[in-house]
Parts: sequence; structure tokens; C-alpha cells
Amino acid sequence: MGFWHDLKQDYKGVFERDPAARNGLEIILAYPGFHAIFLHRINHLLWRMHVPVIPRLLSHVGRFLTGIEIHPGAKISPGFFIDHGMGVVIGETAEIGENVTLYQGVTLGGTGKEKGKRHPTLGNNVIVGTGTKILGPITIGNNVTIGANSVVLKSIPDNSTVVGVPGRITKKKIIRMTTEEGLIEVMDYFPDPISERLEDVESRINELSKRIAVIEKQEEKGGKMRIYNTLTGKKEEFVPLTPGAVNMYVCGITAYDVSHLGHARSAIVFDVIKRYLRYRGFKVNHVRNITDVDDKIIAKAAQEKVSTDEIAQRYTEEYYRDMEKLGVSRADIEPKATGHINEMVEIIKGLIDKGYAYNVDGNVYFKVSKFPEYGKLSKRNLDDMIAGARVDIDERKKNPLDFALWKASKEGEPSWETPWGTGRPGWHIECSAMSMKYFGKSFDMHGGGADLIFPHHENEIAQSEAFTGESFVKYWVHNGFITVDKEKMSKSLGNFFTVKEILEKYDPEVVRCFLISTHYRSPIEFSDAQLNEAEISIDRYYSTVMRIQDFMETAENTKETPAVSEFENLLPSIMGKFEDAMNDDFNSALAIGGIFELIRETNKLLDSEPAGQKAKKLVLKAKETLAELGGVLNIFQRTPEEWYKALMKVKNIGLTEKDIIDKIAERQEARQKKDWALADKIRKELDGKGIILEDKKDRTTWKVRVG
Ligand SMILES: [Zn+2]
Repeated sequence: MGFWHDLKQDYKGVFERDPAARNGLEIILAYPGFHAIFLHRINHLLWRMHVPVIPRLLSHVGRFLTGIEIHPGAKISPGFFIDHGMGVVIGETAEIGENVTLYQGVTLGGTGKEKGKRHPTLGNNVIVGTGTKILGPITIGNNVTIGANSVVLKSIPDNSTVVGVPGRITKKKIIRMTTEEGLIEVMDYFPDPISERLEDVESRINELSKRIAVIEKQEEKGGKMRIYNTLTGKKEEFVPLTPGAVNMYVCGITAYDVSHLGHARSAIVFDVIKRYLRYRGFKVNHVRNITDVDDKIIAKAAQEKVSTDEIAQRYTEEYYRDMEKLGVSRADIEPKATGHINEMVEIIKGLIDKGYAYNVDGNVYFKVSKFPEYGKLSKRNLDDMIAGARVDIDERKKNPLDFALWKASKEGEPSWETPWGTGRPGWHIECSAMSMKYFGKSFDMHGGGADLIFPHHENEIAQSEAFTGESFVKYWVHNGFITVDKEKMSKSLGNFFTVKEILEKYDPEVVRCFLISTHYRSPIEFSDAQLNEAEISIDRYYSTVMRIQDFMETAENTKETPAVSEFENLLPSIMGKFEDAMNDDFNSALAIGGIFELIRETNKLLDSEPAGQKAKKLVLKAKETLAELGGVLNIFQRTPEEWYKALMKVKNIGLTEKDIIDKIAERQEARQKKDWALADKIRKELDGKGIILEDKKDRTTWKVRVG
């Protein structure tokens, strides 16, 4: 490029980049930046011609005139402009691309360590802010902007923005791509350690604020969380012994037979309580014991001529299988009685030493009269209890209410050595021993079926508090019975249904939903009609999910419809209703009511054929809310496809999914040929088997008939 060409570009550059530049004469006479580049272009020419002294001398004169020092060796492309140029220094080996702008006080210098090329190279269209130092033989890419007072010591890629000391990139690379929609700009990832650290810190702050929010929620709503305590006979504010943590012991099964629906109810009730406490941010430690030594187990083993261990093992596994199907999570610790004999013996020893227990021929009994608070859980009066006690055949007891802590074992029964002879534990002592082992002398919540209140839990309190001298459990929580024709479902009455039997007819989610649709303390009347009702309810959820999926695929992105804004307010209120219900003594029945209100309203919204991005976002949010709230109760966690597949199995439809899809295709073909008779025949045929077809805009979907 020639001298005049370059100078002309410089002159044009001033007009382009200085909005104050008005006329040429002014620039030529009064722009020091222009004088500097004018002189430099002459000096550089002379320098290249190896003219001695003069170029340096002129550069020196230029510095006096303009306050700008440009070494004659610096290579500067056309369109160069120094705005308010005082104090600019440009080193000998600096190279500057086209249309570069510098402000006052900029140094393009060396670090003093390099030889040869020791000053920076600037790309085209670079803008360097006031006071910036760019030091060393680094390269500043094209289109880079450097903020005022930065100190840049490292090369900078194209299109970046740089600020700070040391200079760091704040803006990432932009890639321009031509797509169907024309030219678009995409921000590309470019590693910047400082901004990455900032992002890291930011995400830590977010995480911490979420945790604080959980704690605040606990504090704010914890006051509102109430639980019915059998011990006090009223609803109380739930305040665990250690803030934020709950130790929860629930009596498990005696493993001698398959589980019936009553067992399932207790397990599901405490599973829901645990899940809700965890949802609320409590750290829950859940212990549920397995009784694997007991009269009933011994009797069953003798009957089948197998070991008690084998019986206990078999029915423990059966229990786990059933509960897993019903969505009951395992407890954190599931201790077995036989694994805690030493702990039980220690407590019994202590009770004998303190005079609370006595030994008669290797049988140790708890002396109820020595514990004046006996009856405080079941609200029974000692005298009434004695009067009401059936004539006790065990004449070794000093009082008919005294209960066995230890039993001398008969020949062939499981037994352990103790100071008072060989024997086995009574039933009640294991729960005291195991809860104390895992939770200490006092803990937050003890649960079980209401049939355990007396005598089991009453006895647990007596032996535990007599032994430790401290309060045993803060909240006693008991679930209600299942009734059949208004009578308690129980093994002894023979009016029970095993979990296995029920799961042959109903999907486990139906059974779970049926059991939690009633408040946990109320009795539940068992009937097929109730289970069918639950099945219809669950189907309503999965049908709604299917509708939502259809909507997400087909909704138009046109103007918002008015129904949307009403729906927007509904979502948080449903969350609130759900939590209020669960906070009020775990009222899952009311909480489910809230979920179904949302299902109803979502369907209403979909009926109104909403449109627009916001509608899509809200419908999606509704879907997420339903799944989240359902998740707390561990229902609604499958896809509609999984639900219908499971229903086909449980209802013995006798068709595979493929059979149905083939039939739909066959019907489609008939419809295309306008063979309406055949199409109708196929539909009726499927209907007869309980498969309902639904014709949509572009396809046909299927469902299983419920109820
Ligand atoms: Zn127990």
C-alpha cells in the first residue's frame, strides 16, 4: 500500500470514528493523532530506506508536538486512528492491522524480556481503551475490543472483549452461520478460567441459597406441620428432637405368613410419611424391624418340619417382594430380632437389677405395678385393665398384667444362654432393644398399626422408660384398620385378603392409591368397588398425560388464549393446597384431592384449545407438578404406555401391544378403502376385549378400559 493511500484511509478513519470531526481542515490542523500517523508514515518510509538518524529525530519531534511516541519501525496498516492521543507509545516491532483505534495512554510495549519481535501484533478493527498496556510479542485477534486500563499479557482470539488487570476475556467467541433462516450468530464456548470460577461460585451460591430456602421453609412451615400423637391424644406441632432430622421406628412384620392388606396399609402409610418428611427437607432415619423369633414362627416351623430360620427367611422375602410391588421403599435399617439378643439381655438384666422385672423358672416378667404410668399410651386405667384381663393361665406371674420379657424355651425351640437360663425373648423387648441401639434412649417417632397400641407399644414404653429413666418416644403414630363389611380385616377373623391375591386383580399403583386416598388414621372399608374407583382415578391421570403429550406436539404457536392466565395462578395454589394437607397430620386424602383438582383444571384448559408459547409452558409445568406431587406419594411415576401395558396384564386382555397396533393398521387400511363395515368391526372387536380406540387428527391411539 502506498503512502498516500494509507494516509487517505487514516484521514477517512477519523471521520468514521470521531463523531465530533466536522471538516478536513480541522483534522489536518488540530488532530494530534492524525499528525502523529502522518509523521509516522514519513518516518517509516525513511526507516525502511535505512536513512540514518532522521526517522528517530522526526519521531522525537512528533512526540513533542503530539505527545504520541511511535517508533519508526512500527508497521501500521491504513485506517489507523488515535483519539485523544496524549501518552500513546508504540514500540519498534509493533504491528497494527487495518482500521485500528487507540485512545490516550495506550502502550504497545515489551515486557523487557524478549529479543527480536518484542512488541504486540494487533489484528484488524481492534479498539484499545484509554490507559491500556499491551505488552510482549502477543497477538490481539481481529475485532477485539479492550476496555480502559486493562493490562493484556496474553494473546487474545478474534471477536473477544477484554477487561481488567490482568486482562481477561468476558465475551465469548461468536460464530456466524448461514442457516435456512439466514445468517445467525452463535456464541461459542471459549475457556476463560476466571469467568469459569465465577460461574462456579455463582452455582455454589445458588445451591446454598436453595439449602437456606429449605431450612427457612422448615422453620416457617415447620411451625405449621402438625401430627396426631397417640400419647397426648391430640394434634401437636411437629418439632423433632434434633432440628432437621427425624428418627422414625416402625414395627414391622412377624415373618410367619404372607402379608395381607393390613400389613400393606401400615407399610404404605409410613412410606408416605417418610417421603413427605424427606420432601420437606428432613433427614429421615427409618428403622423397621423383622420379628424372626416368635411363638407363631415356632408353631409354623413345627407344622412344616423346617427350621424357624427357614420360615422367617421365606416370609421376609415374600414381604419384601409384595412391598416392592406396592412402591414401599426399604427402611434404612431393617434389623432382625435374633441379631439383637445381647442388647435385649442387657436391658432385661438392668430391669431385674432395678426391681422392675422378676425371674420365675427362667421366665422373666415385667412388673407392671412398679411402673405407675402404665396405660398412658392406650389411656387405660390399671384397675380396669386388671378387672378386664382374662383369667391368666400363667400362674407364675405376680400380676395378670405382667408381661414376658424372656421365655424359657422348650425342647427344640430356638434358644440363647442367659444368666437366668436358656430361653428366647418375649416379643415386646426386641423393639426397645433395637430402637435404643440405633437411635439412643429417646427418639422422634414410633409408628405401627393401631392394634399395636396395646399391649405392644404400652409395654415398649414401660420397659424402655423403666430401664433408661428417660422419655422413650416423642410422637406415637398409629394407622387405622382395614375393614370388610365394617369389621376389622384380620387373620384371626379370616376375613382378610393377601397382597398377592389383590395384585392378581389390580395394578399395585391402584392398590397404593386406594390405601392413601383415606386419611391414615381412619378405617378403610375394603371393596372391589373402591378399588375400581381408584383404578379410574389413576387412569384419569395417565389419560391426561397422554393429552398433554398430544398437545405439546400439535399446539399452535399463535396468540395466547385468555384461559391461560387463570391457569397460571392455579399452579402455585395447588402446590400450597397439597403441602397444607400433608402438613395437617399427613392428610394424603386431601393432598390427592389437590392433585385431582389440577388434573381436572388441566383437562379444562386443554378443552379450551389453548395456543401460544405460554400455554405450552404452563401445560408442561402442570405435567411436571403432577409428577412431582405424585412422586411425594410415589404414585404417577410411569408413562401412559407402561400403565396400559400393566393393565393389559392384570386384566388378562389376551392381546399383545403388537396385536393391537396391527389391528389399528388393518382398520386404517379399511378406512382408506372406505370399507366402513370392516373398520367398525375391528373397533368393536377390540372394544369387546377392553381396548378402546381414540381417533386423533393424524393417528389412532388405544387405551385399556378401566373401572
Ligand atoms: Zn414393635
